Amino acid sequence: MVDNLDKIVNLCKTRGLIFPGSEIYDGFANTWDYGPVGISLRNNLKNLWWKKLVQTRPNSYGIDASILMNPKVWEASGHVKSFSDPKVDCKNCKNRQRADHLIEKFDKTGTIIPDNMTNEEMDAYIAEHKIKCPVCGKFDWTNVRQFKLMFETSRGTVEGEKDVVYLRPETCQGEYINFLNVQRSMRAKIPFGIAQIGKSFRNEITPGNFIFRCIEFEQMEYQWFCHPNDSEKYYNEFKNIAWDFAKECGIKEENMRFHDHDKLAFYAKSACDLQVKFPIGWQELNGVHNRSDYDLTQHSKYSGKPLNYLDPYTNERYVPYIIEYSMSPERLMLAVLCEAYDEEKLPNGDTRIVLHFEPKIAPYKVAILPLQKNLSEKATEIYRILCNEFMCDYDEAGSIGKRYRRQDEIGTPFCVTIDFETLENNTVTIRDRDSMEQIRINIDDLINYINEKVK
Ligand code: ATP
Repeated sequence: MVDNLDKIVNLCKTRGLIFPGSEIYDGFANTWDYGPVGISLRNNLKNLWWKKLVQTRPNSYGIDASILMNPKVWEASGHVKSFSDPKVDCKNCKNRQRADHLIEKFDKTGTIIPDNMTNEEMDAYIAEHKIKCPVCGKFDWTNVRQFKLMFETSRGTVEGEKDVVYLRPETCQGEYINFLNVQRSMRAKIPFGIAQIGKSFRNEITPGNFIFRCIEFEQMEYQWFCHPNDSEKYYNEFKNIAWDFAKECGIKEENMRFHDHDKLAFYAKSACDLQVKFPIGWQELNGVHNRSDYDLTQHSKYSGKPLNYLDPYTNERYVPYIIEYSMSPERLMLAVLCEAYDEEKLPNGDTRIVLHFEPKIAPYKVAILPLQKNLSEKATEIYRILCNEFMCDYDEAGSIGKRYRRQDEIGTPFCVTIDFETLENNTVTIRDRDSMEQIRINIDDLINYINEKVK
């Protein structure tokens, strides 16, 4: 596991995983562009999630709702009124901080819950304890004010008559407002689930820690609609699903824990985060929430369309409860990268950096490496066969040792090396990333061999 986030940031940049956004224009803070290796890793994580939650989970349906929605959606959800965080600005260095985070970090007793405080109470606490700016060390804050987290844009063609619309700050509202569409078109019976993966945008006050908190990110959100009496049973089931999925992605159990929320939103019945140990400490990877019937009730009220369910067996009509399981692939990717990172001392005294990804999420499964350039015809032939099955890299530049190191650094589980014996007897060597052991196998057996290990 990595001990310092900077190592991950540097590796991601130099090895084609993640680049700073708009870099040639001096960047655009807290935006990130995914390179060829990074996008493959992110897609693998999303596909694995989709497979677990949609493809193989009975009564599950995937959708892709619009990013721009009728602004009433955000009134009904409560975001227009209250999706904001308390902020303070340092008058000396102009740095902006979340007031609740400042207080949380300062309080060593662990008994202060800033979520329960009004802005005035936070002002008083910061003043009483003279909490200093973590950037310049001065104590010279503005008062606490609420800072809106939704990005606004406008829609309309006539200047002055444009309507404000919002970039969605979460994907789940698209799932709630399509509850009846999915239920009717798919003849779904409760309990059933709706899943979605898509972009969300948040004007975060303190984004940072690489891709941990971004202003533009994706969310993988799953809503399970169930009878109110069954909601706690399913809440616990989804806690297990969240745990197992993180484990399947390669997070070690000793680096995971649940954190039950001390303070619940007024509509929530239960809520917890699955936390993971990052180099910045224990932090939320995903949330699991029992949201009660709040969301469907609100949208029924604001839209005038009743969102409820008639049980065909019992004739009971009710508003389903919703269990939500929600996470961003960005945060999962960071957790996976931190967990997989290793610096290994080799017998010859060198150190190799290696990402021990679970083979199924590795960006590239195989690298094809001709030992010498004049073997490239045969190597290309093998590449063509394998790339139909797996994401493959092809590299014929530099010493074989350096090429292995490069593949270790992007976590490629297998390197296939083509040498002169290949031309004689149709065999290649295949090197295992973790053990660095090599075996010789027939080219015709390669696909089966790799398939078995990757699955
Ligand atoms: P946090 O307390 O970290 O701000 P949250 O409780 O606001 O998160 P939710 O609104 O429940 O988070 O979002 C669900 C999930 O979406 C989180 O568990 C996290 O995986 C992801 N997520 C939320 N905000 C961001 C962000 N700014 N950047 C990347 N991922 C995010």
